[in-house]
Amino acid sequence: MVFGKRAFFGYVPAPDGEVWWFANVPRPQEPARGELEGTGPGEWRSRLTELFAADAGPAAALILASQEITPTSPMHSMPALPAWRRGQMIVIGDAAHAPSPTLGRGASLSIEDAAELAKVLRDQPTIEGAFAAYEALRRPRVERIVKQDARINNKAAGPAGRILRDLLMPLILPRLANGEQSRQTYGHHIDWAA
Ligand SMILES: Cc1cc2nc3c(=O)[nH]c(=O)nc-3n(C[C@H](O)[C@H](O)[C@H](O)COP(=O)(O)OP(=O)(O)OC[C@H]3O[C@@H](n4cnc5c(N)ncnc54)[C@H](O)[C@@H]3O)c2cc1C
Repeated sequence: MVFGKRAFFGYVPAPDGEVWWFANVPRPQEPARGELEGTGPGEWRSRLTELFAADAGPAAALILASQEITPTSPMHSMPALPAWRRGQMIVIGDAAHAPSPTLGRGASLSIEDAAELAKVLRDQPTIEGAFAAYEALRRPRVERIVKQDARINNKAAGPAGRILRDLLMPLILPRLANGEQSRQTYGHHIDWAA
């Protein structure tokens, strides 16, 4: 992770030496319709390289070395969907609760949804009863996790905020990783046999 002065950069080296990366570029306003589609990879490469040029770390070099830059898109936080089900129809996964990609939780929440839904359909005598049980089970968990969007989407900080963040991050991250919130978020267990 590179918390740059002007944007955020994340990268992961794969075992074969390839590097996967992404950049979050804060913007005060929504891009105009067609603006992002109209910006080619060459322009993105030079814009992004320039954005990360003053930061420590490999961001600018990785961007420069990338032959392909995939199309960009804005990130949105989706409002909570008031109804997930009607009669014998239900929505699950992103259709019910799409978190921002930055949260890195949408796929795992969707897989949990599928397993929990299969379980209630197995155990409840009616479809409507199964859907009601499913929603009661899933809604508190997914809404608690999706609420973290707003905090995590915007990683920009001013000069003082950056100093404080860089000092506190090494102390806070291990506590977060081992804390109750992390256990609740990542330690979800579905007991299929129960
Ligand atoms: C850039 C990015 C990065 C992400 N990173 C992560 C991450 O690191 N970790 C993580 O957990 N999640 C991540 N996510 C989120 C994750 O991809 C989604 O939350 C997850 O794919 C949702 O699964 P889903 O099955 O609910 O929906 P989808 O994966 O969207 O599947 C829905 C499927 O339905 C199909 N479909 C739509 N309409 C119809 C129709 N009318 N008829 C038939 N088929 C239809 C679509 O083509 C699609 O294949 C990321 C998302 C993005 C965009």
